[in-house]
Amino acid sequence: MNPRLDITSGRRFGCTMCGNCCVEDGYVHLSAFEVRRIADYLGLAPSVFKGRYLVDEDPDTLAASIPVKDGKGCPLLTPDRQCSVHPVKPSQCSTWPFWPEMIGEAAEWQRCKSYCPGLDAKDGRLYSESEIRGLVTLGGRTDESG
Ligand code: SF4
Ligand code: SF4
Repeated sequence: MNPRLDITSGRRFGCTMCGNCCVEDGYVHLSAFEVRRIADYLGLAPSVFKGRYLVDEDPDTLAASIPVKDGKGCPLLTPDRQCSVHPVKPSQCSTWPFWPEMIGEAAEWQRCKSYCPGLDAKDGRLYSESEIRGLVTLGGRTDESG
């Protein structure tokens, strides 16, 4: 069994806004509420937002996901690598890097250091164990891509 990430003394994280995590292939998952909130923020009807950003939707739950593939990055990322919906970005993005798979396996945290300079950054904020556990609960996702 692979060891879990040691969070007993907390972990440091400081985002440099490099945008690397937003170009990792995977999916950005959005709840139905997040779809509406982001569409509102962009001044778009939800249907227009979904059409424009290639959102796959579960017809039962209305939860949706934006595929990030072929190294092209999240379609909500601007050319200068900023999140165009930063104030209302999905919880998947706002809870990075404290995702279940990152905490559940130390090797995954180490792997993601190859592209995320914020992980264990010496000048990053120290998140306590309880803060981390709270963020893991909020995020609750299973795929990659920040
Ligand atoms: S890769 Fe890490 S440091 Fe860069 S924007 Fe994403 S979270 Fe921030
Ligand atoms: S929604 Fe924003 S923070 Fe999340 S992956 Fe897309 S560009 Fe990055």
